[in-house]
Amino acid sequence: MFKSLSSRAARQLLQPATTSSITRRYAHAPAVFDWKDPLGSSNNYTEEELAIAETAESYCQERLLPRVLDAYRNEEYDRNILAEMGELGLLGATIQGYDCAGVSSVASGLITRAVERVDSGYRSGMSVQSSLVMGGIDEFGTEEQKQKFLPGMTKGKILGCFGLTEPNHGSDPGSLETVAKPHPSKEGYYSLSGSKTWITNSPIADVLLVWAKLQETGKIRGFLVERENCPPGTLETPKLSHKNGLRASITGMIQMDGVPVTKEMMFPHVEGLRGPFSCLNSARFGIAWGTIGALEDSIARARTYALERRQFKNNPIAKYQLVQKKLSDATTDAAYGILAALQVGRLKDEGKAAPEMISMIKRQNCDRALINARHLQEIFGGNAVSDEYHIGRHVANLFVTQTYEGQSDIHSLILGRAITGIQAFV
Ligand SMILES: Cc1cc2nc3c(=O)[nH]c(=O)nc-3n(C[C@H](O)[C@H](O)[C@H](O)COP(=O)(O)OP(=O)(O)OC[C@H]3O[C@@H](n4cnc5c(N)ncnc54)[C@H](O)[C@@H]3O)c2cc1C
Repeated sequence: MFKSLSSRAARQLLQPATTSSITRRYAHAPAVFDWKDPLGSSNNYTEEELAIAETAESYCQERLLPRVLDAYRNEEYDRNILAEMGELGLLGATIQGYDCAGVSSVASGLITRAVERVDSGYRSGMSVQSSLVMGGIDEFGTEEQKQKFLPGMTKGKILGCFGLTEPNHGSDPGSLETVAKPHPSKEGYYSLSGSKTWITNSPIADVLLVWAKLQETGKIRGFLVERENCPPGTLETPKLSHKNGLRASITGMIQMDGVPVTKEMMFPHVEGLRGPFSCLNSARFGIAWGTIGALEDSIARARTYALERRQFKNNPIAKYQLVQKKLSDATTDAAYGILAALQVGRLKDEGKAAPEMISMIKRQNCDRALINARHLQEIFGGNAVSDEYHIGRHVANLFVTQTYEGQSDIHSLILGRAITGIQAFV
């Protein structure tokens, strides 16, 4: 029975426990449950990761939290936020070289968790810059493209956006209609035409990573469009207003009518959906961490409220079992979610994270964060309606995180395909 154990370990297990061996085994202080870190995930971070998390957490609580209510109410995104994050080394943080920090995937996850603890919109703006655009350039760009964009982007001086979704093609980007054809009058240029929608950061982006079909091959290719090089009338990026979620981020369209792009600004060696999906994988990994940050903030706020609010015989509502169950469910899902993201993060750095693993944590953490935040919202009673309690904002935001970068049902289909070998998309 104990064959697989070393003989010393087996002997120890088979020995009857004596008082002294019990005392020895439990001599250290009894473990204490911490509702903020229920399964002790912080034991698994390196010193460097903990220091990065602390820097990100302090910045977010001291600089972002005081701005979020006004930003959300007025649907205003301050582009200086990306410059501030850049100063701290938080942008494109996993990239090696080009003035980027070169930290672990887990450290980058801790950064997104800290940002989304304040607001999913702030995390979205950062994820687009870091994972979708900088990550894409780092993975697929030429050396010239990297030198040109990455040092400015990591400082938040050059802002990027990622244009994949179109008005008629969201979950099915393979059908996208934006086209790149040889420019009719400019030698060595392509001409891009088409329309993208729901694009985070598009109204303020200096460089737009646009995915278009090359007319010559019908294959999807990535193009780096520089706003300053677009002649008047070829590029418009109108803001989409009156959103009911993610209001602290800026979202817009990309409308292209013969945008001239030099051939040097196309990603040279990647075609088809591998390009955009690879960028999305990194961003989805960040979302899996971030949404747990939003859930953790919801838990902390609901707990405080439940301890302070008194009903029936002056009892804090935290005394009641139904309220405690909501807190228990949410805390459990947050703890499981962070451990799963941590595991995938470690595998990612070892090159062992399959895309389906990322689909799994993206889907699970978004779904559980949304469902739990929605239940925690009930603890606030009527006050949940006031934005000053923050919970309603998290719930509205978390709906969007469940929808973008692969709606949860689409990730179910990705997992279903991996489990059964049969694809159910079409
Ligand atoms: C605030 C915000 C920011 C965004 N930022 C960006 C960005 O920066 N860049 C970018 O490119 N995109 C961005 N998006 C777009 C986002 O990724 C898409 O909205 C998302 O992929 C879903 O596409 P869709 O809206 O066209 O929905 P649809 O594809 O029309 O899907 C609608 C519903 O149908 C379901 N569905 C579709 N096909 C199937 C199927 N085969 N089987 C079962 N169910 C199916 C979906 O799961 C979903 O529930 C953003 C969206 C929002 C709201």
